[in-house]
Amino acid sequence: MQITIRERATALLSRFYGYRSFRPGQLEVIEAVASGRDAIVLMPTGGGKSVCYQLPALLAEGCAVVVSPLIALMQDQTQALVANGIPAAAVHSNRDESENRAIMEAAFAGRLKLLYISPERLLGEVERWHQAMKISLFAVDEAHCISQWGHDFRPDYTSLSRLKELYPHVPVVALTATADRLTRDDIVRQLHLSEPFCWTGSFDRPNISLRAYPNPGKKQRVEFIAGMVRKYPRDSGIAYTLSRKGAEELDAALRAKGVRSVCYHAGMSAAARDEAQRLFICGEVPVVCATVAFGMGIDKSNIRWVVHNNLPANIESYYQEIGRAGRDGLPAEVVLFHSYADVITLRKFVDESGRQAVNLEKLALMEKYANAKVCRRRILLSYFSEESVCDCGNCDVCRNPPSRFDGTITAQKALSAVMRTGQRIGIFTTVDILRGSMRSDIRREGYDRLPTFGVGSDLSREQWLDYVSQLIQLGVFEIAYDDGNCLRSTALGLRVLRGQASVELSTYVAPQLARRTRKAAEQVPEADPVTQLFEQLKSVRADVARRESLPPYMVFSDATLLDMASRKPVTMEDMMQVSGVGEKKGVRFGRRFLAAVRKFEGLSAATPQGSSLKETLILFNAGVPLGEIASLKKISPDTVRGHIARLIDDDMITTFGTFISREEYRIITETLANHPETAYEELGNDYSSGTIAIARAIARYHERNRK
Ligand code: ADP
Ligand code: ZN
Repeated sequence: MQITIRERATALLSRFYGYRSFRPGQLEVIEAVASGRDAIVLMPTGGGKSVCYQLPALLAEGCAVVVSPLIALMQDQTQALVANGIPAAAVHSNRDESENRAIMEAAFAGRLKLLYISPERLLGEVERWHQAMKISLFAVDEAHCISQWGHDFRPDYTSLSRLKELYPHVPVVALTATADRLTRDDIVRQLHLSEPFCWTGSFDRPNISLRAYPNPGKKQRVEFIAGMVRKYPRDSGIAYTLSRKGAEELDAALRAKGVRSVCYHAGMSAAARDEAQRLFICGEVPVVCATVAFGMGIDKSNIRWVVHNNLPANIESYYQEIGRAGRDGLPAEVVLFHSYADVITLRKFVDESGRQAVNLEKLALMEKYANAKVCRRRILLSYFSEESVCDCGNCDVCRNPPSRFDGTITAQKALSAVMRTGQRIGIFTTVDILRGSMRSDIRREGYDRLPTFGVGSDLSREQWLDYVSQLIQLGVFEIAYDDGNCLRSTALGLRVLRGQASVELSTYVAPQLARRTRKAAEQVPEADPVTQLFEQLKSVRADVARRESLPPYMVFSDATLLDMASRKPVTMEDMMQVSGVGEKKGVRFGRRFLAAVRKFEGLSAATPQGSSLKETLILFNAGVPLGEIASLKKISPDTVRGHIARLIDDDMITTFGTFISREEYRIITETLANHPETAYEELGNDYSSGTIAIARAIARYHERNRK
């Protein structure tokens, strides 16, 4: 019988990862790579790219070499692999060279299935590996780093083109979450992939709800973020800011409100950054205030929300950043705060970037998203060339379709303020004049004597900022970016001012604070049974994680705990059916979770006898040595041997070499045959009753099979 790649892959997925089925695209990529083809995989963050190269590595002989741009990323991946029982390691500059050498030796000796390495180190050595080791495949993670078109270009990556020259017959699989066509074609070209299998996954993440609010005040933002922390007291969130200073200020403001928070940006020392990351990943602080420096390779499944305090530079980075939320597939919220001040800052960056045209266009599209009055998800998906035929129902525009009003008079007030000051003022001054602010510079310029001064005091500052933004989007105003960012009227604006054209505006919607108020959060509401159990399992996980010094998400993900809470396994056998419980983790952590479920179900913590036998079988099949099975189950080794004997009788175990040697078997069976009455006395000194039981069961097995 021919076992297909598909069957082997599915068996390995279940055994090592505990997942029952593949996500879309995974199996297709695995089959292509396992049959020797190059591949390029475009999947959103959290889509499941790792499995696409890890499984071909498990299927093939030799060691897969994985190129990764960041040490943190390598550590995370190898730790997760090892937790699943897959031999993997990373060489990098945070280890001392003797450790790195030992790892390379393990790879050369064929003891590793995956080796993670940085591009520059790889290229320094790979030529000499021809003789030293069998390379099953090369995986290039975060492959967009090779492209100048990408938003994260790394010069080290460009030399990876040599891999195909050096190893023309080893498949190369490139993986990225950056989906635009330009970048993808560039990756294929630069890595010299030959007719690669190409998979573009859906970039839709329907579990993430999208919202955007223009121009909230500082206080409002802090209040909002603190509200998110209260709403999700046991989960985490990220607050992104444009500048380091912004991250620090936000962090301080949150802490002043009693919210546990850390700050993360590239200006901090490596040690401080690592510590911040650790506190966040372990769940000790619920929120990190960070610049975009934070997050690559963060595979934390219970990030429930991401708030952007400022407009990001382009949709690719925005998408990647929000993609860190809800990686477990459970509902997550993302919120974008933005203002023209952000646009002005970002345009400055663009001017310094050397690629003005492309970057300006990208920024303009980002603005379009932020100010959208149509389904936001459709804008995102169309950016990634993905068709969407209906509104998503899970963004603010879909939920509260904007209500419109005749905004002609509103527009005329703003236009008149701008015209009467000679088009020399920016948005904020315009709004302050309209609202009648007595700011000193307004008085100094004499703006307080203009007829338009204070004509808009019936609207809040936020409302005015929103309406002026809309007027810019509508082409009534434009911003003179090259001239002090002043507001100018367009030709359309002049017609509106003269009453020759009218405008429609959408009613301003204030940021909705997280639904659960402080009070509600304190009197934690009665949860349904699944949620209750889920919460209990999370605290078991926290405990296990602390004892094993692992980040909680590496013990089990939230998705796994949720599946556990709804399946309520009461035997080890049921436990092994839970999605995300593979053999290794099942053996290592399963019992502690099982005890919690059993207690929740009103059963004794210890599992019953019948299932104890099955459990021994599961452990045995997972390759756990007999002595370890005994200590895991807190029973004597001889009881385990008794189980083994019964399992042999049931034909559940058919290889015996690990329990008893040929010689022992011969002595025991011969003694039993020759001196049946005194055999136990004779053997008793040298062999335990369990070993004798095993020998007898083996004899019965041979007897059965002889017939
Ligand atoms: P990416 O690298 O694309 O961002 P990962 O490979 O880290 O995504 O996968 C994201 C999450 O999905 C991980 O927790 C992973 O274990 C889980 N996952 C991957 N494949 C499957 C699958 N077939 N079934 C269930 N969960 C999966
Ligand atoms: Zn929508």
